[in-house]
Parts: sequence; C-alpha cells; structure tokens
Amino acid sequence: MAAPSRLISRLTLVTGGGSGIGRAVCQRFASEGASVVVADLSEASAIETLGSLSCDQRGQDHMASVVDVSSKESVENLVTSIQCRYFQPPSVCVNAAGITQDDFLLRMQEEHFDRVVQVNLKGSFLVTQAVARALVSCGAPKGSIITVGSIVGKVGNIGQANYASSKAGVEALSRTAAKELSRSGIRCNCVLPGFISTPMTEKVPEKVISKMTSLVPLGRMGEPHEVADVCAFLASDDSSYITGASIEVTGGLFIG
Ligand code: NAD
Repeated sequence: MAAPSRLISRLTLVTGGGSGIGRAVCQRFASEGASVVVADLSEASAIETLGSLSCDQRGQDHMASVVDVSSKESVENLVTSIQCRYFQPPSVCVNAAGITQDDFLLRMQEEHFDRVVQVNLKGSFLVTQAVARALVSCGAPKGSIITVGSIVGKVGNIGQANYASSKAGVEALSRTAAKELSRSGIRCNCVLPGFISTPMTEKVPEKVISKMTSLVPLGRMGEPHEVADVCAFLASDDSSYITGASIEVTGGLFIG
C-alpha cells in the first residue's frame, strides 16, 4: 500500500537523521511529500540518508547538515542555515539524536553521566527551543515537535542510570513545551520506543537481547520504520488534537 501524502509542502528537521530511527523518520517523511533536513553529528551518515530519500513531489528539496545537538552554537547555526536556504523554519522537528554510555550505577563515571544528559536531554532542549523561537518569531500558524524518548525513562533499566534519567527528562521537557507553546499552535509530543533494531542496540549483548525479546508480548524487537510510522502521524494533521502526549512503541513491553 502506498504511504499517505500527509506532509506535502512541509519542511521537516530530523536530528540523528544519519542512522537507525532518525534515518527511518527521514525516509518516511520524504515518502509522505515533506522536504527533509537530515541533521547529524556524522556528516557521512547524514549524506548517506540524504541519498536514500525519495523526491517524488514537486518542490521537494532535501538537505544534509552537520550538527552537534549538545552545542547551542551548533544548533543555532543549523536553524539559521535552514532559514537561509528555505526562507522559513521547519514546521516539523524530530529530536532523534541520542547516545548511550552504559555502566552500573556504582561504577558510572561522572563524565559519562554528563555526556549522555548533554546529548539526549540538553540537546532536545536546545533544538526544541531554537525551532520554537524561529516558528514563533515568523508567526508560523502551526508546528509539531516530536522527541524520541524511551520506555526506560518510565521504568528504569539496569546499567542505564544516565540514559534513563535523560529519557525521563525529555518527557517532562516535551510536556512543559506542549503547555507553553500550544498558544502558538505548536504541538509537542514524545514517542517512547522499546527495543528497536538499530546500530544502538547492536551494542547490546545477544544474551540480553534474547531475554528482553522474551518479555515483549509481540515476541520480537521493533523495526525503525515502526517508530517512524508514529512520528509521521504526530507530524501530520491526523494528530491535530494531540499535544503533551507520550506514545509507547514497544510491542507491549512493560504494559501497565
Ligand atoms: P543510532 O545510534 O542508530 O542513531 C543515533 C544517531 O544520533 C546517530 O546517527 C548519531 O550520529 C546521532 N548523534 C549522536 N550524538 C549526536 C549529537 N551530539 N548531535 C547530533 N547527532 C548525534 O540510535 P537509534 O537507535 O536510531 O536511536 C535514535 C533515538 O531513539 C535515540 O534518541 C535513542 O535514545 C532512542 N531510542 C532508541 C531505542 C532502540 O532500541 N534503538 C529505544 C528507545 C529509544
């Protein structure tokens, strides 16, 4: 079945667009008619994603850009460069950039805690703030900001004190942004993936993966496109009355 075309003429920004879930989001948005800015710390990965994007709609114009979401200067440069090229800010933004640096709480080094929080939480704050400021100052009628959290932000996870804290933080950030920005027509929501097959989870030992998979009611890991499907819904007007929400994409892991 052909993908719907809900994002025609929409300018979209996806951080972490060079890999995994972010790449699948870029591909889904492009297939629904959006112009996509693929932003990633890795230029080579962003360019690889760019090369995979469909361009079937008239006026669709994608670009790849390097950004370090944990740097205010880098994020501001990104948003400025988008406005210079497209003469508008992105009306859809997906915060998918993220890292893990796992260790047990008793052993976790302070710099590993700080780095994960800087990228996952502060990065989502900086990008959300920069995009929202640009949308408000140009008087855009609507916007949709989607942040990729994680189910472990709700339930915790052994070895991920830093990561789970950062992901709990992005949900609170997104709900607060939803309250403040609704008057400007900007909706803010989270998706909370469970275990999804991406380069991030390739690092997890096979033993742990099979134990986790056995706990998933649907009996398997998720695919990046299954998270991208939900992001496309939240980006589109099909979710026009949804803000401040978190949608779990977990195959039923940790229901209840
Ligand atoms: P991934 O490692 O495949 O992709 C992450 C991307 O983020 C990479 O391309 C990387 O270069 C980029 N990135 C890292 N640091 C950055 C920075 N400072 N600035 C800009 N880009 C940066 O991982 P993924 O599994 O696709 O994860 C995407 C998001 O989904 C992350 O936020 C992750 O925490 C979240 N998530 C993933 C899973 C999963 O099971 N894979 C589960 C829950 C949540």
